[in-house]
Amino acid sequence: MDLGRTLPADVTRDLLDELLSFKFLYESLTRSVGDCVVELDAGRRIVRFNYAAEALTGYSALSLLGRAFDEVVIGDASAIFAASNASDTRTLRFAVRDTQNGTLDVRGRITPLARGHELDGWLVAFGPVRTVREIEQLKNELVSTVSHELKTPLAAIKAYTATLRQNPALYASKREEFLAIIEQQADRLSRLIEDMLLVTRVGAEQMLRRRVMVGLDSILDRVVCEVAHDPLTHPILRQTAGASISGDPERLHDIFRNLVENAIKYSPNGGAVTLSATFDGERTVVDVRDEGVGIRDEHLPYIFDRFYRIDPDGSSSVGGSGLGLFIVHALVRAHGGRIDVRSEVGAGTTFSLSFPVRA
Ligand code: ADP
Repeated sequence: MDLGRTLPADVTRDLLDELLSFKFLYESLTRSVGDCVVELDAGRRIVRFNYAAEALTGYSALSLLGRAFDEVVIGDASAIFAASNASDTRTLRFAVRDTQNGTLDVRGRITPLARGHELDGWLVAFGPVRTVREIEQLKNELVSTVSHELKTPLAAIKAYTATLRQNPALYASKREEFLAIIEQQADRLSRLIEDMLLVTRVGAEQMLRRRVMVGLDSILDRVVCEVAHDPLTHPILRQTAGASISGDPERLHDIFRNLVENAIKYSPNGGAVTLSATFDGERTVVDVRDEGVGIRDEHLPYIFDRFYRIDPDGSSSVGGSGLGLFIVHALVRAHGGRIDVRSEVGAGTTFSLSFPVRA
């Protein structure tokens, strides 16, 4: 539309002034906000990359203008935008690379920009996963989660020890049963402490002590022995013969122990846990599949966050610290690998881990 022809000159001038002042406001806002703001055209090429995005990633806006945003994203960028195809803003978690080729975990909001019915581009606003307020909240969650998780097994140990002490005439079979419970609860305590120690190493360079080719079966043999399960209700099926991974055997054990424990824990009605592995010449992909309760879509972006737990009825009936998947994610990344999850509520969950031959 030719505004000059259809509107009086003074109105056109006023409109243009207003438009310019909006443009100025928009530009000032995107420049000055603490969040990283990236504007993309319909082809996902970068048209704006604000100061905060420059500061976080180390890239200058100049070096990125016109380049595909997918180059900055680690992993499958299409998945982020596919999830955001609706007309409203979606919040999700993804990772971007910095100039040192490091990985930055971010939480972002993706808003499609539309002109009429046509997609005109995208506005991506993101920030590092943790803010100061979140860290403060984390500290409180740490205290409450850890004290709850420490108290539960301690209470059981105390109660069973007292029963044993007060009833010296207990049948040998009962004594054995109680001692086994005490041992199990002590193991649970020591696992929690190990997990907490591992959490302190996340982000530091000391997550992997060594790197060798490890047979997946030797790791899984140990995991299957350690994880308490009834082979009738929770059979563990394996299609992993001959697969190997380049990594730290202890940490690989931590990864699979956590995933198999969860697979059983979140299948209260029973169901098989299937471990399968494939190798395509470059990467070993291991799937851990269960037939349990599944995870609703809205939780999926957060399940790898520290202390994130899904407690549908607020009853905390299934114990946990919310550290397991956080550790698994960090360990898989430390191996140069990636982890994906697919889930269907009521049908089960599959965690898919992909490890390069050598990161
Ligand atoms: P938790 O100590 O609570 O098990 P995790 O970090 O291991 O902590 O898992 C985070 C949340 O993800 C859990 O609270 C649970 O709701 C969900 N989750 C993890 N694994 C599974 C699974 N295999 N099936 C269904 N939900 C799962």
